[in-house]
Amino acid sequence: HTSVSPLPPPIRVRPLTCTETRRGDRRVVHSLGDGTVHVSAARHDATFGFSAVFDAGASQEAVFEGSGMRQLVELAIDGFSCTVFAFGQTGSGKTYTLMGPLAQSETRPAAPGLLGLMQRSFSCLLEQSRSRSSDLALSASYLEIYNEQIRDLLSPGPPCALPLRWSKTCGFYVENQLSVDFESLEVIADLLLQGAEPRAWGWGHGLGHCCGSRGRDEGVARVSLPPTWVPQPSTCPGKQGTLCFVDLAGSERVKETGSSGELSVEANNINRSLLALGHCISLLAKPRGKRMHIPYRDSKLTRLLARSLGGSGITLMV
Ligand code: ADP
Ligand code: MG
Repeated sequence: HTSVSPLPPPIRVRPLTCTETRRGDRRVVHSLGDGTVHVSAARHDATFGFSAVFDAGASQEAVFEGSGMRQLVELAIDGFSCTVFAFGQTGSGKTYTLMGPLAQSETRPAAPGLLGLMQRSFSCLLEQSRSRSSDLALSASYLEIYNEQIRDLLSPGPPCALPLRWSKTCGFYVENQLSVDFESLEVIADLLLQGAEPRAWGWGHGLGHCCGSRGRDEGVARVSLPPTWVPQPSTCPGKQGTLCFVDLAGSERVKETGSSGELSVEANNINRSLLALGHCISLLAKPRGKRMHIPYRDSKLTRLLARSLGGSGITLMV
């Protein structure tokens, strides 16, 4: 727990979708041009400040360059544990920002200009690793947390829940997690697509329902941890940087009540992990002297992210 100096996060405002335009919805979030956005909806009227505002017209490249993402990639190469979260309610553009529209349509590859923070980070990482040293070994893993169970999205065959363990040397780690070495953008882009594919197999009723259909794919219990990078320069074996992308479940579920059966179990689990995450972050953001014990153990998500959130971790939330 070194010192934490939290800055306000950057925010991205997405344009209205075709459906929204067609049914006559109006924009309620407006950038005021000075790092603030004004929200004016029926009963709400407020202004919020951010480190950067990416308005509806902002390109994927502008978000990559202006959010601090490029610096985060460089810090990961320098050995820091770096994490990017996309946070927001379902439909706010989390997956689009991280992966671009390609997660929505597998048939057509996304235009290069639409690629998200992940693909841009991968190219930046590969470029940097080529220019800095030739023996930077890169590997990736891809996990999903569903109903507080961790599943490997890269391992072939039927999914099974992987145990999360703790050791003095490694901290929390996922046992038997598949980690794939890669040296090219094609390989990592394929891995990403493979993992992002909606799961066709039924894994209990909940998952078949949630992730098998397009509509429910968004933000259901998909607190996924897309590729975790392990760039490891051979010159300093103890220093292993990671770059972790987290497509959080829709934040609106934190307040959701009254759903029944399976959905309520799901909503409760999402609530639990988002609340645990929020709790850990607010405790970490307290001045050092006032900091108490950080309850990473409260959810699988916070356990998995313990190293990124505390210690030498650097986190960017969009
Ligand atoms: P979330 O992952 O937060 O649930 P999505 O990323 O799936 O939301 O975005 C919801 C819809 O809005 C998708 O159809 C997506 O393509 C579209 N969208 C999101 N952000 C943008 C953007 N910046 N520009 C254009 N379309 C966007
Ligand atoms: Mg999504």
